[in-house]
Amino acid sequence: MKQQRLFEPDPPPWELVDRDDLACAQFVFNRPLETPFDYLVPDEFRGRLKPGMRVAVPFGRGDRSITGFCVGLARPTAHASLKSITGLIDQAPILTPAMLELTRWIADRYLCGWGQVLEAVVPAGVKNQAGTRQQLLVRINDEAWPGSPPVELPEKQAAAMAALQTAGRPMGLEQLARLAHCGTGPINALRQRNLLISFTERTDAGDPEHVDIERTNDLELSVDQQHVLNEILSALRGRRFEPFLLHGVTGSGKTEVYIRAIREVVGYGRQAIVLVPEISLTPQTIRRFRSRFDSVAVLHSHQTDSERHRHWQQIATGKVQVVVGARSAVFAPTPQLGLIVIDEEHENSFKQDTIPRYHAREVALERARREGVPLILGSATPTLEAWQRAQAGELKLLQLNRRVAGLPMPPVVLVDTREDPTLKTGGAIGRALRTAMQQALAAKGQVILFLNLRGYSPVLWCQACGGAVKCPNCDVSLTWHKEHNLARCHSCDYSCVPPKFCPTCQKPGVRYLGTGTQKLEVEVRAKFPGVSCVRMDSDSMRRPGSHDVALEGFRKGETRILLGTQMISKGLDFPNVTLVGVVDADTVLHQPDLRAGERTFQLIAQVAGRTGRSDRGGRVLVQTACPQEVPIQFAARHDFIGFVQRELAQRRQMGYPPYESLVRIILRGPSEAEVAATAQDLGQLLRTQIDSNQLPARVLGPAPCPVSRLKNLFRYHMQLAAPQLATLQILWRQHGAKYKLPANVELAVDVDPINLR
Ligand code: ADP
Ligand code: ZN
Repeated sequence: MKQQRLFEPDPPPWELVDRDDLACAQFVFNRPLETPFDYLVPDEFRGRLKPGMRVAVPFGRGDRSITGFCVGLARPTAHASLKSITGLIDQAPILTPAMLELTRWIADRYLCGWGQVLEAVVPAGVKNQAGTRQQLLVRINDEAWPGSPPVELPEKQAAAMAALQTAGRPMGLEQLARLAHCGTGPINALRQRNLLISFTERTDAGDPEHVDIERTNDLELSVDQQHVLNEILSALRGRRFEPFLLHGVTGSGKTEVYIRAIREVVGYGRQAIVLVPEISLTPQTIRRFRSRFDSVAVLHSHQTDSERHRHWQQIATGKVQVVVGARSAVFAPTPQLGLIVIDEEHENSFKQDTIPRYHAREVALERARREGVPLILGSATPTLEAWQRAQAGELKLLQLNRRVAGLPMPPVVLVDTREDPTLKTGGAIGRALRTAMQQALAAKGQVILFLNLRGYSPVLWCQACGGAVKCPNCDVSLTWHKEHNLARCHSCDYSCVPPKFCPTCQKPGVRYLGTGTQKLEVEVRAKFPGVSCVRMDSDSMRRPGSHDVALEGFRKGETRILLGTQMISKGLDFPNVTLVGVVDADTVLHQPDLRAGERTFQLIAQVAGRTGRSDRGGRVLVQTACPQEVPIQFAARHDFIGFVQRELAQRRQMGYPPYESLVRIILRGPSEAEVAATAQDLGQLLRTQIDSNQLPARVLGPAPCPVSRLKNLFRYHMQLAAPQLATLQILWRQHGAKYKLPANVELAVDVDPINLR
């Protein structure tokens, strides 16, 4: 080929790399870099290299070999002396062209490197091909064995040939040996006689596991449900992108609507993705889908690499009808996507808190748009972001304002804890709550108690100096865990024996304050002796399967009182729960966070939703020291719309999301002075750029983070705010991202931050 060129006129320089076969390709790396890099592709790799494959390339000073993702095959953008790739890591693309495009969009939106996104979205098990192995297979050599033996074979060899002939397909060596009741010796002898041909193959993913779950029929939809479903069906049948916000009160039958929409999608031979919060990914939820569809794959973070890999491959073959999973399932490689559902859209766990810090809702919107399919965001308490978009017409609002079967919403009673004598003496269950529990239990009902503080006592407090005992590595109070008598930090893995003397003033008299779920459990057992009670929180539910055991016990009625953290606030559907007690509604309310009110409303509304799910009725008791606070008042009246209208007006006035976009910049390092000075310097630089370019943007801060020290690093942050996110993206890319950080200071960029700690 090169010789032919000698007889051709001089080509323009780019033709050297863009003729016949491709000779140049673009790569991105797991680094915060913005643009892809060009590399030459040596002859040996031409034709084999495709976008979506990983390769080894020399990179940086010293040409260290690193992994790059191939994102394009095109002529180089510059003619500088290009390096060559040195090897292919994958034999076939592990990412589709559509996924490459989507991940590039994520990198742009969330201000991180494209390669960082790719590194994060492909599960480790897929990257290292966990669980697959080369298998040696044998098949009959049809030329040497035209159906009958050319020679008389020894008994065992004949048996092996017969078994293989009956099977009618290639078989693994050991499998054949088992079938023919022989060892591998006779089979190897047949290979030597050339009667069998052997070859290797990767074992494939196999079929989606068939789980034996009793199938249940579709329910007859209520008029409201049918109306909502019709809107969704119309988008499905029109094969168009259309995003819906399904606002349905707890128990209004949202899941039933999802299932019917998915049924339509499956009817087209397409696949649906259902995202649920990680803690809702319970066996109960999964069973609900498995009882309705033949082939359901589950993706969650507790799977082994090889399990994830197997599911990923099965999904990619199109054999899976429904993918149910947490946040990252939004990347499931469905070949013909038909619908995406995000249940409990308001859940914070849909936002990833490491790079890439994406929100599954935004990614799902973008993916649905690109693939031309509908998206359903469902919640009883949608985020203000979603609600405001529905008001603006960007999402189509669908509503289910009533519970199924005409069940009323449970009445909510607010109990002012400031006036309760039992609470003054250190208890957490006040008089009214205790009476309500007694009544519910006496009437053979079940009780759910919600408290979102785990541990025994959330605060260790020094009587002498009045200070809290904090983690030596973090600016966080230690929590006493009585079981192992340890004071633990919930932000890092620090723990110690609770100090007898205050670490600050060295005086004795450290006391335990407040109630966590462990202490609540002790109090419940003391106040209700002989009544079975189970605690569900991340400490008690460590063992795999413990979730299922606990919930099954409650479903069967063996457990009468279920107490726990957020883990029990979502999705549970137990008709016999006649009382829900919110032990302390104020835990979230006073957090220094612009969403504290919104979260308080959500928490109360969601836990309240766990009762009144049958004609037995149910009620809710909320203990609070601030019964006049707006979110608590509105939640007690089940008035979501009243609450959001008020809250939105406030957000607009303050210039907070959803009216303005935020980008949070966090700096951290071992020296507080250096981190503070860097934050000041960067803040100043951004302010100057905003002024001189007259950008409609603001810098709030810098200031120490609410948690000013974490894992021994000091933390400062600032928020960039603007009516348009694009303004901030430009500001950051052109100026912030180019800022030279001191060696000891690290920086994180969080677009649309949810966690402001
Ligand atoms: P949500 O997700 O809105 O909280 P669910 O979908 O969990 O509500 O439904 C609540 C309960 O009502 C479930 O037990 C469900 O089986 C039942 N349900 C839903 N739709 C119907 C219906 N059309 N007829 C009878 N029961 C229904
Ligand atoms: Zn700590």
